[in-house]
Amino acid sequence: MNIKKTRYFVRTFGCKTNQYESQLLKELIQQSGNEVVEEYCDADYVVVNSCAVTQAAERDVYKFIRRVYRESKNVKQIYVVGCYAEYTIQKCLKEKFFERLVVNLPINFLGCKEKYNVIPSDMYKDTTICESKFWLRKFFGTTRAYVKIQDGCNNYCSYCIVPFLRNRMYSRPLEMVLKEVDDLVRNGYTEIYIVGTNVGKYKYEQNNRTYDFIDLSERLLCEFPEITLLFSSLEPVDLNEKFFDFLEKYRNRIFPHFHIPLQAADDEILQDMGRNYTVEEYLDKIKKLRKIIPGVIISSDIIVGYPIETQQKFLFLTEFIKKVGFNWVHVFPYSPRLGTKAYLKYGNTTAKDVKQKVRYVNEINTLLGEKYFKQLCKV
Ligand code: SF4
Repeated sequence: MNIKKTRYFVRTFGCKTNQYESQLLKELIQQSGNEVVEEYCDADYVVVNSCAVTQAAERDVYKFIRRVYRESKNVKQIYVVGCYAEYTIQKCLKEKFFERLVVNLPINFLGCKEKYNVIPSDMYKDTTICESKFWLRKFFGTTRAYVKIQDGCNNYCSYCIVPFLRNRMYSRPLEMVLKEVDDLVRNGYTEIYIVGTNVGKYKYEQNNRTYDFIDLSERLLCEFPEITLLFSSLEPVDLNEKFFDFLEKYRNRIFPHFHIPLQAADDEILQDMGRNYTVEEYLDKIKKLRKIIPGVIISSDIIVGYPIETQQKFLFLTEFIKKVGFNWVHVFPYSPRLGTKAYLKYGNTTAKDVKQKVRYVNEINTLLGEKYFKQLCKV
């Protein structure tokens, strides 16, 4: 007798860690005897793996759910999982959520601690346990695969909601990461993209030895001679001497692109944000990177419109971006997030000219992109 499989559609918003988790969720759905479909109109259940890093990310969740409501008559249940679900649960915003959504659909919220629990089984109840027991064997695309090594962040940068939403800091067992990479390499993946909420904070104890993210990376490069490693965002504070020695030794096995969030180019703002480095220290680290890997690709995150940003500080930021010569920057308008230090200190305020500032930095970004493209064409 043919048991009808439940059909799931998974939509992912946000960071590479979310994309990894959605891929693992798809594998677990298939391992549990159910089906993953490519179109939400064919799905019984729709899973929205959400992001809450900015108000714009929130809006994306509503827009998508309304589209599902309009276009699909098959959907029995929507699961909103991950950071925005966690935010909605923590801040008791479910009622507000449905008021704002307007459409009447059965929606279930699963926070970051239970995001795999869309599959009705105790095996998938706890995110951390799930990621310590299950691993990926394939990834969308053919040569590059994301491998999550840790979750959570204890930095509590003043503007950031992530530490409040993501799980407490944990590092995946070393043997689990090795097993995952082993299977991915067997399936033909040669580029391993190390992802996590704050990968630089990986710390795993094994046989009286502590592995940080550099030790883990070195272990992967030694055990799998065919792979190239890529890193998701690295915090400036994690680019220490040990990191530069590692880079010197394995520069030919590391993809020459580093995303190093700067956020602001003013020491007073950086201190207020709780970023633990100065503008000068940041510049030094970029110079060291370029010394070890000439022509290395460097991108960054920038926040404009932070409450204590003056016009003068903003103009200095724009000059600093050009001075560093990033290949590109992601510019974010400061977005007050309920519960963060900056929200408590400055309230729910957004600078009137923040959109203008974003446009201005994106014009610089276009010039940086053109310069980078010309370099590529020369190669
Ligand atoms: S390092 Fe700062 S910005 Fe990054 S996730 Fe942690 S708190 Fe947020």
